[in-house]
Amino acid sequence: MESLKQTDPEIHEAVLNETNRINEGLELIPSENFVSRAVMQALGSIFNNKYSEGYPGKRYYGGNKYTDVVENLAIERAKKLFGAEHANVQPYSGSPANTAVYFALLNFGDTLMGMNLAQGGHLTHGHPVNFSGRAYRPVQYGVDPQTHLIDYDAVRSLAEKEKPKIIISGATAYPRKFDFEEFHKIAQDVGAISMADIAHLAGLVIGDAHPSPFPFTDVVTTTTHKTLRGPRGAMIMCKKQFAEAIDKAVFPGLQGGPHEHRIAATAVCLKEAMEPGFRDYAKQIVKNAKVMAEELMGLGFKLITDGTDNHLMLVDLRNKNITGREAEAALDKAGITVNKNMIPYDPRKPFDPSGIRLGTPAITTRGMKEQECREIAGLISKAVDNCKDDAALEGIKGDVKELCKGFPVY
Ligand SMILES: *Cc1c(COP(=O)(O)O)cnc(C)c1O
Repeated sequence: MESLKQTDPEIHEAVLNETNRINEGLELIPSENFVSRAVMQALGSIFNNKYSEGYPGKRYYGGNKYTDVVENLAIERAKKLFGAEHANVQPYSGSPANTAVYFALLNFGDTLMGMNLAQGGHLTHGHPVNFSGRAYRPVQYGVDPQTHLIDYDAVRSLAEKEKPKIIISGATAYPRKFDFEEFHKIAQDVGAISMADIAHLAGLVIGDAHPSPFPFTDVVTTTTHKTLRGPRGAMIMCKKQFAEAIDKAVFPGLQGGPHEHRIAATAVCLKEAMEPGFRDYAKQIVKNAKVMAEELMGLGFKLITDGTDNHLMLVDLRNKNITGREAEAALDKAGITVNKNMIPYDPRKPFDPSGIRLGTPAITTRGMKEQECREIAGLISKAVDNCKDDAALEGIKGDVKELCKGFPVY
C-alpha cells in the first residue's frame, strides 16, 4: 500500500489499525465476513473507472468489451450456482436490490407482506420508516409468542385476509430454517408473487447447509457480502417471466452506472463458491454455531428458540441483568464484536434492546472450529459477568488476542 501511504497517511493508518483490530479480535456479527485477496484485488481493479450504463451487449457508453466479459461471467456463475433462470448483478447493495424488485413488480400503494423488523425481518420488508413501508401498503408477519418460530398457519391466514401482491421470506435475525417451499405455496394460493431475500443465507444455500428457495421461488434477492463472502453488493435472481421488468427497474429505473469493479469481485467470489471447499465452509459455519449455542446455554444464557439451525444466535440477556447495549459495549472492550438486537416481543427499545446477535461466518473463514467456539462462548460469558470491570475486560481482551494468534485473517 505504498501509494496510499504516500498520498494519504491518515487513511493508510486507519487501514492498518482496522487490519490489527480484525486480526486481534473476534468478529461475531453474523452479517460480516472476510473476503479473499483475490476478491479485494478485483474490487481494487481498474474496472472502478468504467461507465457502463445498460447491460452486456447493450451499453450506452463505448469501450465496454472487457466490462461485458466481467459482467457476463458474474451473471453466468450466479445462474449456475443457484440454479436461477435469470440474474441481475448490478444492484449496489441489498436494500436497493429489494427496492428494485418492488419497483419492478408492484404499483405504489400495492400491498407487500414481509417479516416484522422487531421479530427478525429487514427494514426493507415493509418497515414504516423505510421506502418499502411508505410507497407500498405493508403487512407484517412475525413469530409465535411462545415458540418464537414462524407460524406458517398464521402467515397463511394473514395472506388470505390481506391479499398481498408479493410475499417476502427471509430475515436478518431468525436462528432457524426458512421453509421457502411453504412460503411459495402460500403465495401461489393467494395469487401473490413469492420473493425470498437470502442476504444472510446465500452461502449456506450454495453449500447445502440450508434448503434452497430455487427453483420454485419467483424472485430471489441476496447480498454478496455476507455468507457468500464477496464484495458489498447484491444480486436479483428470478424466473424468466420477471426478467425484463427486473432489469428495467434496476437500470434505468433506480440506478445509473453499475459498479463494475464490484461486479468483477462478485464474479470472483462466485467462482470461489464453486470450489468444493466452499461446501465444507458452509457446513462448518453451522456446526460452529450449534456448538457455540450449546456451550452458551450450558453457561446459563437463554437463546431464542433454544438454539440455532443456521449461522446465527439471538441471545435473550434478561436473566443476566444486562441490556443489549451494555453487553455490546462490554464485549467491545474485550475484543469481541457483536451487535445489540431486539428479541421477539422485546419489552425494551431498539437502541437498547434485551438481546445480542452472534454469528459464526467470519470466525469460520479464519479457520476456527468447534474447540475455538467453545472457548469463545466461555470468553463471552466471562465478559458479560464482568461487564462493569474494565480491568477484567482488558484481561479477556488479552485472551482473545492469544486465541486469534493462531488464526490470522490478513
Ligand atoms: C443485510 C440485509 C439486507 C440489506 O443489505 P444492505 O447491503 O445492507 O443494503 C437486506 N435484506 C436482508 C434480509 C439482510 O439481511
